[in-house]
Amino acid sequence: MKSNKPKIRIALTGNPNSGKTTLFNALTGSRQHVGNYPGITVEKKEGFVESPEHVLHFVDLPGTYSLTAYSQEELVARNYIIIEKPDLVVDVVNAASLERNLYLALQILELGAPLILALNMMDEVRKKGITLNTSLLEQRMGCRVVETVARQGKGKQELIETIISLKSRKDELKAPVEISYGPDLDPVLNEMVAVIKESGFMTETYPARWIALKYLESDEEIISEGRRKSRDISKKLEGAAEEVAEHCLKTLKTYPEAIIADYRYGFISSLLKDVVTRDQQRQRIEMSDHVDRFLTHRMFGPLFMIFVLYMVYNLTFFVGDIPLSLIEDFFGWMGDMVRGVMPDGLLQSLLASGIIDGVGAVLSFVPLLMIIFFCIAFLEDSGYMARVAYMLDRVFSYFGLHGCSIMPFIVSGGIAGGCAVPGIMAARTLRSPREKLATILTAPFMTCGAKLPVFLLLAAIFFPANQALALFMITILAWASALLVSKFLRSTIIRGPATPFVMELPPYRMPTLRGLLIHTWERTWQYIKKAGTIILAISIIIWAAMTFPQLPEERLEYYDSQAAILNDDLRSLNGDAGFHEKMAEILSDQERIEFSLAEDQLAYSYAGRVGTFLEPLSSWAGFDWRINISLVGGFAAKEVIISTLGTAYSLGAVEEDDTSSLAERIKQDPDWDAKRAISLIIFVLLYAPCFVAVVAIARESGSWKWAGFAMVFNTVFAFGFSTAVYQTLNFFI
Ligand code: GDP
Ligand code: MG
Repeated sequence: MKSNKPKIRIALTGNPNSGKTTLFNALTGSRQHVGNYPGITVEKKEGFVESPEHVLHFVDLPGTYSLTAYSQEELVARNYIIIEKPDLVVDVVNAASLERNLYLALQILELGAPLILALNMMDEVRKKGITLNTSLLEQRMGCRVVETVARQGKGKQELIETIISLKSRKDELKAPVEISYGPDLDPVLNEMVAVIKESGFMTETYPARWIALKYLESDEEIISEGRRKSRDISKKLEGAAEEVAEHCLKTLKTYPEAIIADYRYGFISSLLKDVVTRDQQRQRIEMSDHVDRFLTHRMFGPLFMIFVLYMVYNLTFFVGDIPLSLIEDFFGWMGDMVRGVMPDGLLQSLLASGIIDGVGAVLSFVPLLMIIFFCIAFLEDSGYMARVAYMLDRVFSYFGLHGCSIMPFIVSGGIAGGCAVPGIMAARTLRSPREKLATILTAPFMTCGAKLPVFLLLAAIFFPANQALALFMITILAWASALLVSKFLRSTIIRGPATPFVMELPPYRMPTLRGLLIHTWERTWQYIKKAGTIILAISIIIWAAMTFPQLPEERLEYYDSQAAILNDDLRSLNGDAGFHEKMAEILSDQERIEFSLAEDQLAYSYAGRVGTFLEPLSSWAGFDWRINISLVGGFAAKEVIISTLGTAYSLGAVEEDDTSSLAERIKQDPDWDAKRAISLIIFVLLYAPCFVAVVAIARESGSWKWAGFAMVFNTVFAFGFSTAVYQTLNFFI
């Protein structure tokens, strides 16, 4: 290289695969020269870079992890730095694994060589979401740091400029870095350094502390060189080293080399504190990927999902049942109180059956809603809901639904015993309007807890040997109806392309309790505020429909006169034999009259008239006016079906949990048979949702139009289905 410009000699060091050769090529281009180090086969690459005022002479040293002369490469690299004394050493480090790479850099600094750190592979670092505080690293290392991406030639120019600027201030470069090797080695090192310095033992070539360290590390190269220089001093140092080695072996069960390495790594990790910060977001993404390998696994993912959905379901209905029954008990007690305190009559009835029941209905859903909203907020905020959608989307999108539709279906009674009100509310996880609407409209087909007693009653009477199978078939029918009707709706009135599913899964994160509670409360309060008043109003309307018009005077007078006769009988009872029997007889007669009055009143009411009016039509599906009335009542709440059926059969309002009198009555009734039972089961499963669910549909779909649609469509669909089944059964059997 013929040039009069001053030459700067630079050695490139670095761990293997840190990108040293790539950087070397990027810097020098074709101006390279490849040879061998004298006497050995290790390749020596040299190259040149010309700047306006300097010529930079680069030597690509062999890649090494350390400078402990264990291999030929390490020895070449070390000797080049020590003996050739390049103007600068550029240590190319893989910045993506700084801790391991700085081990070599630290050793170069201990040698007192003027060092520049090239933080290579910065592209990888950024991709991994790691941020490096380069200026802090410069400050701690006491040397210049340049960021590079060798493969793209980035940072090349800055490196060249740094080299040139340092060359002119070479004298300012730091003295060898001295780090502490702890209480076992430091005192010995200090003694050895004193001996070395006093005699100037090899100090023209190496820093004194470095020589002492090499003796502690039993570095053969240095020790044999030392012996050649001065046998006596070398002996002294070897003796000191041996002594401390024995001591270390005895007390710490380890060698000085290991202790030295430990302290170097300790030094590096304290050096790197606050230099390396892993991006929280990226860290979460990486963590999420790991978790997802498990949670969206082909086999395990669905199993875990079933578990989660089942837990949400249980939590909602089993835990929710505790406050739910408290609220129901409270309103039951309130109703009884009003009936006890107030005189019989319309006002009492309005207050007890219209208003208190209405408010009770509004509030009894609150615990369920709070729990389901809490669970949903947790699943959404944690990021798991997106995984559920991801796993189920293929199946559900076939039916025009969304993966997230699973939650509304399950909660509505996809596992028998749910409730459509929290189910419909759960549909707010769906962001795509068409899929959401289809979900809201079909979730009420599921087997909610209020329909269940009807199914249990009929199954026990007509299929006593196959009750479980019957219930299972009903659940299957519910799912099939929901999915098929949804497919139908999505290809007719809510037709439209599926909202493309966003494949990007958000990283998991631990939701905060505060966030969950806020979500839960906001949504619950919205329900109370927006749905509450409407539910109360409708509750009063239903009460009125089942109460008015009142029986005409002459009918009431008839019941009054009957009651008066019984009262007289009761008063004329005396302590004769058979008193108790007679008394019981009179009381049961009284009850019968009371129940007949209730039946009469119900049949006479608007609801009853609708039931009677519909009989010619409903008989196609096998339903008489009594069933019709109870189904009309079922619109208030499906629980009412059984109690109204009781009233219509003059049994009084039958309780859900004791249907034995009703079962007896149905069994003896020649009008009842299995065909009618099957038809009724289908109808109850599929017809109009209860009015609270209807209000929920209106709220969640944003339109009363859809609430009206659900009532009409579901009832027509249910009736068509029941009729078809009933007629087919009649035809064959
Ligand atoms: P050496 O063993 O230190 O000489 O490393 P090389 O120069 O042979 O590079 C090792 C590998 O790292 C090669 O595949 C290079 O393409 C790659 N590499 C080098 N520098 C960079 C960089 O800055 N970014 C990335 N992503 N890869 C790099
Ligand atoms: Mg190489």
